[in-house]
Amino acid sequence: MFPSFEEPLILSVTLNTHCGLHCSFCSDYNIYEEMSDVIFNKVTDFIKTSTNLTTVTISGGEPLLDERLNRLILICNKNKIQVSVDTNCNMTLGEQSNTILNCGQIRLKLLSIVCDKHNRLVGVRGHYQKICQFMGWLNNNFKHSKVLLFPLLNSNLDEIELAAEFAIDHGFYCNFFAYPRGFNKLASLNKNEYSYVIKKIGEVFESYPNKIFLDVPLAGLNNRSLKNICPAIFISTHIDVDGHLRPCKYASMTIGSLKEYSLYELWDMQKIEVKWQNLHCTNCNQYPNCGGGCFANKTDCNIDYYCPVIR
Ligand code: SF4
Ligand code: SF4
Repeated sequence: MFPSFEEPLILSVTLNTHCGLHCSFCSDYNIYEEMSDVIFNKVTDFIKTSTNLTTVTISGGEPLLDERLNRLILICNKNKIQVSVDTNCNMTLGEQSNTILNCGQIRLKLLSIVCDKHNRLVGVRGHYQKICQFMGWLNNNFKHSKVLLFPLLNSNLDEIELAAEFAIDHGFYCNFFAYPRGFNKLASLNKNEYSYVIKKIGEVFESYPNKIFLDVPLAGLNNRSLKNICPAIFISTHIDVDGHLRPCKYASMTIGSLKEYSLYELWDMQKIEVKWQNLHCTNCNQYPNCGGGCFANKTDCNIDYYCPVIR
């Protein structure tokens, strides 16, 4: 159904875990881990030798707090691989401006377009103002793709349309996603909220089709123009801060560790695991439209928790 590749096309990397925020729904904000140099070097070796890789996405924590980030970006640039960096905007801009300018894409996370509400949700005073300042700086200095990451929470569902407009008005794309249950049940939506999101996103997408990115694979079930198959099914994988490979940074399942296997071996193991996890879904006539949903939302029966076909 979906093509099979010898190597991933997209590699996501978590460099550290400390993000500097204190989000009300997150229990991990005070855990500080950094990728070891041994794992970091294995990742860069793979980037240098890969023949298929098109994109590296780097996240944390706050990757802009890692002094190796610029080196990683330059290696990607030299090998003609696109680099996208996620930030919570917790760096000192002056120190990191050159690193940022070397990226091909910046993705900046915002939890609410209402100043006090955002600051309350991230537990940091003045953070919204810092984000606005950074958006202004990017508009003046950064010529590549700028994305506003807007995680959909039960507390900001009334802002979907406004968030899209806010992003577009500031020269950004808007990327909506819902925290998967496998990652954080406290931050994930209930089934009614999830259905509402899909309906609302459909309306907003119709108004701004070229400015909205989605990471809600079940949205493609009833609306083909919202089709956004999970890339972990066939083109992407993730290396965690401790060197474990997962299909996606939000998936609770791990495939194996770079300490024991090469990235090529782990990628083959991921393909087998994905095939097994989607065994039931491949018999469903909706599979081409949803790809089996989100891996990080799979139940013990290997069906997306939000799947409206099998309840
Ligand atoms: S069972 Fe649900 S998640 Fe699986 S392919 Fe069908 S619609 Fe998609
Ligand atoms: S498993 Fe796939 S759909 Fe779910 S969050 Fe990760 S990349 Fe997105």
